[in-house]
Amino acid sequence: MIISNYRKIEQTMIDTAIACGRNPDDITLIAVSKTKPLSCIEDLISIHVNDFGENKVQELCDKYENVSKPVNFHLIGHLQTNKVKYVVDKACLIHSLDSLKLAKEIQKEASKRNIVSEVLIEVNVANEESKFGLSVEEVLPFLEEISTYPNIHVNGLMTIAPFVDNPEENRVHFKRLKQLSLDIISKNIDNIDMNVLSMGMTNDYKVAIEEGATMIRVGTAIFGARNYSI
Ligand SMILES: *Cc1c(COP(=O)(O)O)cnc(C)c1O
Repeated sequence: MIISNYRKIEQTMIDTAIACGRNPDDITLIAVSKTKPLSCIEDLISIHVNDFGENKVQELCDKYENVSKPVNFHLIGHLQTNKVKYVVDKACLIHSLDSLKLAKEIQKEASKRNIVSEVLIEVNVANEESKFGLSVEEVLPFLEEISTYPNIHVNGLMTIAPFVDNPEENRVHFKRLKQLSLDIISKNIDNIDMNVLSMGMTNDYKVAIEEGATMIRVGTAIFGARNYSI
């Protein structure tokens, strides 16, 4: 079931990209495996899936240690500064950099290990109270500040769009994130790249692709509904 679900999403991703004149190879499908057992990840590894998304540090580390072959684990959830040390050398990409305090901690821990941490800036494009992320206005000054951090490399932007019934309602937010990335590119800031736009989930990934997503994060449509009570 998981394999056929994955294949279906992958095909829809390819069809959507082609229909809007994009190269499907420019888009990575991240299988969001949070709350799901390692066996679900192993099912997808058997068909050579390489990119998985986790939102908790402990769970990411457990799966990282126990998986049968090395794959990419993306940290897509909020990251507390006191947990940076556990995950900085395990996450292939941290999608949720959202404060200077967190950037300082990532810089410190990455520097200790002599690695460069690959990150995205989380942007709260819809200004939702309940969400983490910088406001659109905060992003440029933030980037100017952290561009001098030698052990952090910014690859682009991430957003979690509002939960809506009609995915078309989120088009405006995806457009806004894309426009923000173009504005940033035009500033030519050292050490800041904008190759990645991580946006779109089960309900709205097609719209996100049409608006320029280069990474989509899909959980429910691949693994089924999550049970948070166990
Ligand atoms: C859980 C989660 C997803 C996947 O959501 P689905 O609606 O199940 O596809 C994507 N991104 C983030 C940041 C998440 O926490």
